Amino acid sequence: MLQPQPVPVQDLLHPIFEEKSIQLSILRLDLVHPEVSGNKFFKLKNNLAEAKKQGKRTLLTFGGAFSNHIYATASAAQSAGFRSIGVIRGEDADEYNPTLLHAKEMGMGLNFIDRETYRQKNTPDFLEKLKIQFGDFYLIPEGGTNELAVRGTEEILQKSHFSFTDICVSIGTGGTFAGLASSIQEHQRLVGFSSLKGEFIIQEMEKMLTGFGIQSRGKLEINTDFHFGGYGKFKPELIDFMIWFHREFKIPLDPVYTGKMAFGVWNLIGENHFLPGSKIMMIHTGGLQGNLGFKGKTGIDLPIL
Ligand SMILES: *Cc1c(COP(=O)(O)O)cnc(C)c1O
Repeated sequence: MLQPQPVPVQDLLHPIFEEKSIQLSILRLDLVHPEVSGNKFFKLKNNLAEAKKQGKRTLLTFGGAFSNHIYATASAAQSAGFRSIGVIRGEDADEYNPTLLHAKEMGMGLNFIDRETYRQKNTPDFLEKLKIQFGDFYLIPEGGTNELAVRGTEEILQKSHFSFTDICVSIGTGGTFAGLASSIQEHQRLVGFSSLKGEFIIQEMEKMLTGFGIQSRGKLEINTDFHFGGYGKFKPELIDFMIWFHREFKIPLDPVYTGKMAFGVWNLIGENHFLPGSKIMMIHTGGLQGNLGFKGKTGIDLPIL
């Protein structure tokens, strides 16, 4: 249904790695599919298969106006022959931004709702109303995180990645972190970087892991210091770092997730958080589609590919 491309692990070269006696590599999950990029590919694939199995013809999901999840779901639905509906946060969202334009091109029906109503999106009442409006559908939650999504992200790590000591990944809902937590080995540490402000994510992750019956064999660590003001927020240092990173390594990052994660990793390297001998693998979870919309919003031109 969704065909993955092989994804390389790129070893990065920089004098600081020698100085600190570490290695840093990056798993280019952003290259797994041209439109269903990064972790979203893994979160969607089992859900699409399940929707088919249940005989559903429509996928319905939720997201913000620049959502990677909306972009990926619209493309995945189109290529697998589903109808798709995107319920978008904010009546004032710009339906002509690059994310939503693409979603429409992929045939997604967009339904804009006010922020207050959006908060009720998981109530039975609201879902019932959506059924009346759109007919029967297969529901994919905001951000795409459910049990099937987590099982999908368990497939991100391959045997060849077990030689790394540290795996670094961005956290939004934490679904991807949960899947990776389930697949790391005893000798590995998973370091998550929250793109949201606040410590709440630590408890949230514990709840999610328990809920999905995941007990990691390895070590888990969640860093909450690199949110840059909160979800979707940024500061000039983040942008400068991303531009520098692209110049140095020719790898584009996104400002919502991977930029913050890479910034965090770079800082932790500077603070000797990783022991000498560490082999660190960052996961590029994608999100580059958002860089176009970011330019529209802020005027800041981020590298794309
Ligand atoms: C959605 C997304 C994440 C967060 O994934 P979760 O499973 O929600 O934690 C990280 N990076 C990118 C690029 C994303 O699009």
